[in-house]
Amino acid sequence: MTTPSKRRSVAQEAAVTGTGLHTGAETRATFRPGPSGTGVVFRRTDLEGAPHVPARLSEVEALERRTAIGHGSVTIHTVEHLLAAVAAHEIDDLLVDLSGPEPPILDGSVAPYFAALTEAKPVEIEGEPTLLTVQAPFTVTEGDASYLVAPSKRLQLTVTIEFPHPLIGRQVGSYEISPESFARELAPARTFGFTSEVAALQAKGLIKGASTASAIVLDERGVVNGGRLRWPDEFVRHKAADILGDLALTGGRVRAHIVATKPSHSGNVALARALARAAKRSGVPAMDIGRIMDVLPHRYPFLLVDRILEVEGEKRIVGIKNVTINEPFFQGHFPGHPIMPGVLIIEAMAQVGGMLLLSHFEAQNVEDKVVYFMSLDNVKFRRPVLPGDQIRFELEMIAFRGKTCKMKGQGFVDGQVVAEAEMMAVVVDK
Ligand SMILES: [Zn+2]
Repeated sequence: MTTPSKRRSVAQEAAVTGTGLHTGAETRATFRPGPSGTGVVFRRTDLEGAPHVPARLSEVEALERRTAIGHGSVTIHTVEHLLAAVAAHEIDDLLVDLSGPEPPILDGSVAPYFAALTEAKPVEIEGEPTLLTVQAPFTVTEGDASYLVAPSKRLQLTVTIEFPHPLIGRQVGSYEISPESFARELAPARTFGFTSEVAALQAKGLIKGASTASAIVLDERGVVNGGRLRWPDEFVRHKAADILGDLALTGGRVRAHIVATKPSHSGNVALARALARAAKRSGVPAMDIGRIMDVLPHRYPFLLVDRILEVEGEKRIVGIKNVTINEPFFQGHFPGHPIMPGVLIIEAMAQVGGMLLLSHFEAQNVEDKVVYFMSLDNVKFRRPVLPGDQIRFELEMIAFRGKTCKMKGQGFVDGQVVAEAEMMAVVVDK
């Protein structure tokens, strides 16, 4: 895996059909070429309007025994094996049509997805891929799972698992991920479960589609139904493949050495969030709306940042907000005479500042943190902001102590200052 210069999609369609592990629903998953820059996007073709769910951290909904994305009736369960195949092929842009709520479990491994994508003929397309690289080591912990992330030019996964079962015990595996090595060493490794857990999982409405054909099922002594392992350490290999699938939710190709101990889906997603925030991204000038939503808790109508243009370490950040006539506040502020409320200009400035402040906490889980603004000083409104304006916010860190900081910000429209303020903020645990 040398430094790639082109994004990748597929040249043609390919599909797999089968039963979902948790929902038990019969679903067909069809891979289709995606235009450059779209990322990996699921479409629920069984629902009215075929709603889209991007494979991004902002969409993560549930993490028990699987990774589910979307929301409410548009939830898509168990995306990790499909996404592991996408990541292993280094595919950046792809449409995945689903005729039901869950990609099929198939034999419980990533291999059928990897084969379907090979059949769809991965090809280079226009545009530069997004690479996530880290400059310095950091750790992430979530429940029993812990991860050390270290700089590396390639993606390497070193995984340790421990299960008190005679066939598993402690297993350690280290894998340098390339399409070829993944196909050989990880793709065929199947998911596994224990007969002792079946009743509890069924009671939660999970594993409705489970069978000994779609997983390694273990009782106290060994594999039930006379099943055979593909490798003695098939278990740790599968967990490594799961990590790759969950990392695809960063929206980029990760280049780092990840040392994972007792990984879980919630741990993998915490790891992905830490990478999304801390890693340097190439191939994109800044953060798009997907990454902003990975970091900030704000949502419509209160998400007031459209794009981060520049981040200079932890010192300076530049973000923009496009102000359109469709903003909900224009309806009443004022009828027939729309002007953006000054306090919302400052709120937008503060949200850009929050992105800068949260970048200090790169090793921790950003979803557990929230930025509170404590004081505003020297607030000045210089010019009105009208529909059609693009506000460019530039913020500088003046002081940073513990969890508290002071930032100075200015908002510009067409190069003219519209507002300025100094703000004190603190990062607190939710
Ligand atoms: Zn899995």
